[in-house]
Amino acid sequence: MRALTVIPGRKRSLALTEMPEPEPAEGDLLVDALAVGVCGTDKEIADAEYGTAPPGADRLVIGHESLGRVRQAPDGSGFAPGDLVVGVVRRPDPVPCGACAIGRFDECRNGRYTERGIKQLDGYASEVWTVEADYAVKLDPGLAEVGVLMEPTSVVAKAWEQVDKIGGRSWFEPKSVLVTGAGPIGLLAALIGVQRGLDVHVLDLVTDGPKPDLVADLGATYHHEGIDSMVKDGEPDIVIEATGASQLVFEAIGATGAFGVTCLTGVSPAGRSVNVDAGSLNREVVLENDAVVGSVNANLEHYAAAARVLAEADRDWLARLITRRVPIERFDEAFGVGGGNVKAVIDLDTAAA
Ligand SMILES: [Zn+2]
Ligand SMILES: [Zn+2]
Repeated sequence: MRALTVIPGRKRSLALTEMPEPEPAEGDLLVDALAVGVCGTDKEIADAEYGTAPPGADRLVIGHESLGRVRQAPDGSGFAPGDLVVGVVRRPDPVPCGACAIGRFDECRNGRYTERGIKQLDGYASEVWTVEADYAVKLDPGLAEVGVLMEPTSVVAKAWEQVDKIGGRSWFEPKSVLVTGAGPIGLLAALIGVQRGLDVHVLDLVTDGPKPDLVADLGATYHHEGIDSMVKDGEPDIVIEATGASQLVFEAIGATGAFGVTCLTGVSPAGRSVNVDAGSLNREVVLENDAVVGSVNANLEHYAAAARVLAEADRDWLARLITRRVPIERFDEAFGVGGGNVKAVIDLDTAAA
């Protein structure tokens, strides 16, 4: 079978590699891949900035945004051949720490967790893969075209869970949310906001391409003129920051209304300084009882929540998030950048080709 692999730490090592098909261990599902999504993390791995090969291996199979169809499942696993499945990315650390011990491996404290396609475990960008039944999530059979959005949706479902928990420390009936960034994470965060009946605002820089229409067709409001112009019509109760743009992160924290919750999901490059009026930011956070939280990764509960979000969403709208779809031979094209691009996906469904 073919797999997309890199030598972690070596630039330009991303390649299509011929490998033996994996053998399912006891309790594993054997899965025929349908597609794998490409995100910023994959680009960082391809650029040799991130990623660790499995112990003893030179190459790492990349891919953490999976979608496949079960070929073979153990009896009593709850899965059957033909089921549409997604594999969870992270596995708990071996100690385990207190968080991993209760299934909150997305909040591991010792950093010894492993991740499919990222850290010490081969990923899902191969024509066939295996996954422990306990770390596989079944999807609505109607989601074959868009189920590859499941992993980013799980990350967003976790961000919303964090907002709920933090807001829940007192009276909390939010009416509005500002999402900064109209990439896949931002748009999926906006989708959940709309599903919750909130007044949803999405901020991005572009004025053309698919993003403004994707926001409008969700029933949300698109803004491209900066946060100030957006908040003059009312400060949002919640901000979900999905750009990691340093300046915008601070503007977002300052933009919320009283008892605002800001959830940061984007990763900023280190080493860039921005000018911030730290005094007024501190004043605002204290005097409004504001909260700021960072959120990364997702556990099994978040995948279950994400499966419900996708099942309820408009399939055509979800399909429009996938703005580039390439066969595995043309994987390069999924790694390119483009302002109008939302989500690039590599097709692995060779049976259909
Ligand atoms: Zn990703
Ligand atoms: Zn842990």
